[in-house]
Amino acid sequence: MGDSSKSALIFQYSLLAPLLTPLMSTLDIRHLSAGIGDRPILKDFSLSIPKGEVHAIMGPNGTGKSTLAKALAGHEDYTITGGEVFLDGQPLLGLEPDARARLGLFLAFQYPCEIPGVSIANFLRAAVQARLPEGEEVAATAYYKRLHEKMDLLKIDRKFTARSLNEGFSGGERKRCEILQMMMLEPKYAIMDETDSGLDIDALKIVAQGVNLMRGPQLGVLIITHYQRLLDYIVPDVVHVMGDGHIIKSGGKDVALELEARGYDWVSQELAPATKQ
Ligand code: ADP
Ligand code: MG
Repeated sequence: MGDSSKSALIFQYSLLAPLLTPLMSTLDIRHLSAGIGDRPILKDFSLSIPKGEVHAIMGPNGTGKSTLAKALAGHEDYTITGGEVFLDGQPLLGLEPDARARLGLFLAFQYPCEIPGVSIANFLRAAVQARLPEGEEVAATAYYKRLHEKMDLLKIDRKFTARSLNEGFSGGERKRCEILQMMMLEPKYAIMDETDSGLDIDALKIVAQGVNLMRGPQLGVLIITHYQRLLDYIVPDVVHVMGDGHIIKSGGKDVALELEARGYDWVSQELAPATKQ
């Protein structure tokens, strides 16, 4: 290649790079519509979460917050009727849930399910193994060392590793386990659906500490919550308010405080004159 064509390429790249770089490190949800059966729930939902940021979605019950989380994870009950989702530039919606997880998407469920007969240690090991390239094995000693370090951080008793996943766990134990999974899998984007529900204040602080420890330039976080309380401990960069299947207001962390003080009606009232036109 001649010098002039090389410099033309470099010139083109220097023009494109600022446009491409944000796409390459963003979870980009564009005009997503989804529902169950023929019932629409998410309606033209758009949101971009760059790595390094923590976004919170708040909203009344029944507005589609869990639907968003499950549609992103690829839950089979939800039908996508429109829109696109890109993880670091890669289209997500055509992929199976495990392929989405391998790309670095993690979902902490509102209601984690019980898996009798599968111990936490084995489950996590299988999950970590599934993320490795084919032919590579999880080294047992290193794995348990890392597992125990994370468990200590989350104040989870060592004897927990032998118990069946979520079987007979209290609400707080389940949520801590979800955070433990997240710490072991080191996702690029983590979506936490009402991880605070059912937690007492001590468990809430531990969950928040886990997330805060993971916070950094390599991770984008979406916290879905009904209450402001969790956001006292995990301070978000951006707060979105969801109503009727899409975002109706976005702002800084003061939006969450204002919601707590004035209730969700405040947002709908504020929007009413604009939507009537
Ligand atoms: P949120 O998490 O904001 O409370 P959801 O996404 O759970 O809201 O639910 C949005 C709407 O979809 C609600 O009206 C709910 O009743 C309905 N919905 C959710 N899951 C199902 C389901 N499995 N079958 C039928 N309707 C559902
Ligand atoms: Mg929900």
